[in-house]
Amino acid sequence: MSFTLHGLGVSPGITIGVARLASHHRIEVPHRVLPTQDVNKEVRRFEEAVATVRHEMETLRGQIPPNAPAELAAFLDMHRMILDDGMLSEVPKQLIVAQQCNAEWALAQQMEQFLEQFDTVEDAYLRERKTDVVQVVERVQKVLLGHQDRFPTLENSETDCILVAHDLSPADMVVFKRQRFASFITDLGGATSHTAILARSLNIPSVIALHNARELIRDNEIIIVDGQQGVVVVDPDDAVLEEYQLRQNQWRIDSQKLKRLSGSRSKTLDGVEIELMANIELPQDVAAAREAGARGIGLFRSEFLFMNRSDLPNEDEQYEAYRDVVTAMKGLPVIVRTLDAGADKPLGDLTDHTLNPALGRRAIRLCLAEPMMFHTQLRAILRASYHGQIKIMIPMLTNLQELRLTYAAIERAKVSLLADGLLFNPAVPVGGMIEVPAAALMASAFAERLDFISIGTNDLIQYTLAIDRADDGVAYLYEPTHPAVLYLIAETIRAADKLGKPVSVCGEMAGDPRLTHLLLGLGLRRFSMQAPSLLPVKQQLLQADTQKITALVQKILKTSDEDKLEALFQKLN
Ligand code: PEP
Ligand code: MG
Repeated sequence: MSFTLHGLGVSPGITIGVARLASHHRIEVPHRVLPTQDVNKEVRRFEEAVATVRHEMETLRGQIPPNAPAELAAFLDMHRMILDDGMLSEVPKQLIVAQQCNAEWALAQQMEQFLEQFDTVEDAYLRERKTDVVQVVERVQKVLLGHQDRFPTLENSETDCILVAHDLSPADMVVFKRQRFASFITDLGGATSHTAILARSLNIPSVIALHNARELIRDNEIIIVDGQQGVVVVDPDDAVLEEYQLRQNQWRIDSQKLKRLSGSRSKTLDGVEIELMANIELPQDVAAAREAGARGIGLFRSEFLFMNRSDLPNEDEQYEAYRDVVTAMKGLPVIVRTLDAGADKPLGDLTDHTLNPALGRRAIRLCLAEPMMFHTQLRAILRASYHGQIKIMIPMLTNLQELRLTYAAIERAKVSLLADGLLFNPAVPVGGMIEVPAAALMASAFAERLDFISIGTNDLIQYTLAIDRADDGVAYLYEPTHPAVLYLIAETIRAADKLGKPVSVCGEMAGDPRLTHLLLGLGLRRFSMQAPSLLPVKQQLLQADTQKITALVQKILKTSDEDKLEALFQKLN
């Protein structure tokens, strides 16, 4: 049956392909409808998986060393009791029979039911046993799935494959980069979540915040992903398929034409030079940045070097990564942002798991709290500065004390390198990110003390409008043109300009061609974005007259009447 889902289009383009469902923690398991004759076999498969886990638990219990803490045995006994509870070991079998579904799906559904009951329990201790239930179920799921990878494997076929997932973390996306999916769609996520940002960097059509795509779509179903409109059509009829094939061809032709702009100068109609740089997550992203004609790397999100591993990258590893990027950029500037982990980019035990991690110990706060880790990174960046135009950038500054402490840390790293006889650029520029409203409101104080400023609009919008950027439930409130956001951006640019300090935007606003004229009108002359956005943005600025645009934007800043604003925005583009 054909149906359409609506979400947030986060990377434009159209893909027509077959659905591949991703498995994920807890409920992310494949859903299959079984032929009647296979149902009993599936029940046995479930029984065998439970028996395997029971056997594993008994073996573990028997191997507890005599001097181990008593809690360990109690913990294993509790897990064994959970496993043997009829809610988990019997009810899924009834579901397999009643719904003719696979064992993984039955178990996942039953677990959700079971967990809901925990929520109503008043006893805090019992409520906390939810985690134990999940852990036990995951053990059974792993046996059922044969420990297969989270991403389905791609067979060598002519057909495009579209990954359908409940959610993808930034770490998943790094793994995803190595796969050859033509598209992905997820139930969760916001327009500036790191998952969305990575989708743009991959330049593959993607739609997020679809809410229940993972439940409604079956493996192998034909789906259409329209990353521009945020639409997913499942099992399309022939007429719809034909229409989208035409649109897909047109999109390819337009993208091809745009490539001709990569060598041309970034100059507005009235001759103002605009600097277009690229954001990267990993050293291998440099190739796409160069191909798109980027004039440097405006944001190297160094935290991606720290993901998908159980240890921290050591100084040499980091040094090599930063050096490789700056060498590949052949004399062009590379802005390495110091580790911005935490919130939606967790790093195991290092980052906190508080109720509001976005307001917690992330970015520079985390680095200052972990001085050895910070020292290692600063030494690595400084050493790489010997090989080219490296600049250091500090994320999420909130107060001047953080800046003072960071300068002291940079100084210590320099002294230690000198003591070790290692080479670096002693005058390496240090910039900071304005992404907290408090910092935007006192941008001059930061600009005075820094060599350059970069506005992180993703976080600035998140913190100004009080919307979790990764939460699809409030994604509709993401409004880059909100007057409060525009005011903070305008004030930051003004403060930096007044002091003659270079200022850029490296949040997703910079890569949205619908906002290019607006940012130019706010006085922005430096943009940094995911490489695939560079040419669409360049196309916009080539048609811009900064004088006319500035006058219009000044009016926008002074207007609160919604109808007038609408008319002014239309005129702007
Ligand atoms: C931003 O917040 O705008 C930004 C560029 O940093 P990140 O998206 O990595 O938080
Ligand atoms: Mg940020």
